[in-house]
Amino acid sequence: MLYLSAEQRKAIRDKPDDDKFLAESRGQPLPPALLKALLGMAMIGTFITYYDNPFEVQRFALQQRWRLVTERLGESWKHRPAWCLFISQDQRTAAVSIRGTDVEQSRGGDIFTDINARPERYATRDGACPLVAHSGMLAAALALEAELRPTLRALVDAGYRLILTGHSLGGAVAALLVWLLRHGTNGEQLPQEAEVLGIGYAMPAVVDRDTAEQMKPFFSSLINSMDAVPRLSLGTLSRLGSEVRACARESGSDLDQDLQHYVDRLSTVWAPRLRDGNPQVAAATTSALQPQDGTASSPARVAGEGDNCSIETPGDAEDADLYVPGNCVWIYRVRGHLEASVVPCDLPPLRRLILDKRMFQDHTATAIHQALLAVRASSSSASGSASAPRWQKFCEASELCPCCGSRYEWMNTARSGKMRCHAMTNCRCCGLVVCVACATSRRALPEQGILEAARVCDRCVWRGSNDAEVLEALSQVYAELGGHSAGQRGANG
Ligand SMILES: [Zn+2]
Ligand SMILES: [Zn+2]
Repeated sequence: MLYLSAEQRKAIRDKPDDDKFLAESRGQPLPPALLKALLGMAMIGTFITYYDNPFEVQRFALQQRWRLVTERLGESWKHRPAWCLFISQDQRTAAVSIRGTDVEQSRGGDIFTDINARPERYATRDGACPLVAHSGMLAAALALEAELRPTLRALVDAGYRLILTGHSLGGAVAALLVWLLRHGTNGEQLPQEAEVLGIGYAMPAVVDRDTAEQMKPFFSSLINSMDAVPRLSLGTLSRLGSEVRACARESGSDLDQDLQHYVDRLSTVWAPRLRDGNPQVAAATTSALQPQDGTASSPARVAGEGDNCSIETPGDAEDADLYVPGNCVWIYRVRGHLEASVVPCDLPPLRRLILDKRMFQDHTATAIHQALLAVRASSSSASGSASAPRWQKFCEASELCPCCGSRYEWMNTARSGKMRCHAMTNCRCCGLVVCVACATSRRALPEQGILEAARVCDRCVWRGSNDAEVLEALSQVYAELGGHSAGQRGANG
């Protein structure tokens, strides 16, 4: 596993501009207005729903001119995720945010759906627009649709725009919910002119490819760099399996197990720790927005019940692989910079799992927000990857680290050629390949648009401290300072 990770790392660092080239040649530039919307909804769409306490949620919401009007945060069950509904009066917008799985600090009760990634075919009553979707998330979306439809209908009738959003699994449920609201499950469609839009942050692949394309006019998905969750699908897992086997054949039988937990964790990201008993839908917080007949507070129906719609398992799982829907906004790394493009959902780097510590780090709400800020910084100034130094490729590096003159892998126990890649890194300041131990210092490089502390080699950290003219000028500076203070004494006396 560690060898495969080394191979993947070498492949990426041998072609440091590949992702940018692919994203730009096969995608299109990220419209500034979409970047603004992604940033603007990031708080509501990502971290805020992980609070159980509505007062905390309200505190954050009010700071950003949103108002929490109703929620079901306390109770989340299998196939019944927690959610909250916000209103922005000045923007005439209602936003529903759906809680996902907090992969970082997995809290059992919040994990509402399971590893059951079996795709299911679903069609509305009239058979129009069939879609294939992740079965667990589809069940969650159907339950939420039944629960929220009366309230959302009332908001639309009052002239509100609807935005559905969420992080991780919550984003996937938001995507399906947008689809269900737009197509109607029970012959009840929202008015044609209703604005029902969605943004999913770090969401997994959830629908078939055709549906993913068809959702472009009303949905966007944000994929942060190496995040593994949007890349999880039957197809990518099976590809990872064959890569591991191929690498194992090549590297002999004594594979290091250090990275085994990555794959173990991947397959248990959605593993449920379920309560026993029946879900009871807690009555939503009383809201002036509930329709007079009180339908919003009546218990939601079991998913699909009475909908006269069909759910079945599609025959060929290969054809039914799932994709991230709508406009896929991919934030990618290019020589230490974060840039973003709108890319096709089947772009090869998005259909392959990269074994790297970033595969989980990039999934968190704070990492996503930070990445969006970095994209804004590099797109709104002359900085960005254009101002970054050229990165030396790993394959171009000599045997010795240019900083310390030692072999790159000097600090490693395992010194095979493959393991060497784990001991190499690029200095973000000069771009040279140095040994990891010579680049333990981290600096923000705002002149390049790098806002977060990034690896800088020891030589660059202290660069400029022994330039010839520095000491040359010293006696002159001393003399001037002395003359100035003598002059001041004279003036005072
Ligand atoms: Zn070194
Ligand atoms: Zn350097």
